[in-house]
Amino acid sequence: MPRIDLHTHTTASDGSLSPTDLVQLAKQQGVAALAITDHDSVQGLPEAIAAGALTGVAIIPGIEISCLYEEIELHILGYFINQDDPRLKEALTHYVSSREDRNPKIIERLRQLDCDLSYDEVKDFAGSATVGRPHIAQILVRKGYVHSVAEAFDRYLADGAAAYVGRVLPSESDAIALIRDVGGVAVLAHPIYASRLNGPFHNLCSRLKSYGLIGLETIYSSHTVQQTDRFRSIAREHGLLITGGSDFHGASKPDILVGTGFGGLHVPADLLEPLQEFSFR
Ligand SMILES: [Zn+2]
Ligand SMILES: [Zn+2]
Repeated sequence: MPRIDLHTHTTASDGSLSPTDLVQLAKQQGVAALAITDHDSVQGLPEAIAAGALTGVAIIPGIEISCLYEEIELHILGYFINQDDPRLKEALTHYVSSREDRNPKIIERLRQLDCDLSYDEVKDFAGSATVGRPHIAQILVRKGYVHSVAEAFDRYLADGAAAYVGRVLPSESDAIALIRDVGGVAVLAHPIYASRLNGPFHNLCSRLKSYGLIGLETIYSSHTVQQTDRFRSIAREHGLLITGGSDFHGASKPDILVGTGFGGLHVPADLLEPLQEFSFR
């Protein structure tokens, strides 16, 4: 069974590869179909689709939307979205400005913590990408304040860390509604990260399903075999489709490869068709 990868990032969000380079790498890795799922951005899609046509890798237009569920940040993947829908553009512009509003605040806190960096420096470093915490982390590494991106998050940037500033996020129902409105199929990303919830995971699944969630990202780079089995049975119980992806980011998560994750990931191609069928409903 050929492999596919339904969760990847490019320079349109916090990935390090251009859409073209990512598609070429996917081709080399034997990935038959690839979903581009940048955070709150569809800017990488046209280039990826063009590269897909050249290389023969099927490109699924996707997105990963951050939202808030009972004070916990969840990520909802949207597949087969209509990237040109004006409702999508409008919502994304709003999300991005709310994210950008907090970056100067994070920099200000870092300066109070004696890390000498400026917002202009971070914007220059990010180039055409939306400025995000990974860019700030890389500058902190470069300037020697921390040894690694992971340390930058642990000490300063992670939720609850010294320089953390929250942002306004859409609710889980709004995120799913947006994906559905633009013809997409909504899937809960990396369910293992939702384990910080206070209530049972089952409640979350029921609630998201009532809003129109279609699938659960059961096969994921950092899931153990036991976790994969657990999410597979939860998906079955709730009538959710099983999907999977690596969450490839390139240099910021160098151990995760497109298509194979930490090495053992295998998302079989036959998971794609049921997902695609929902995009026509
Ligand atoms: Zn995510
Ligand atoms: Zn992701």
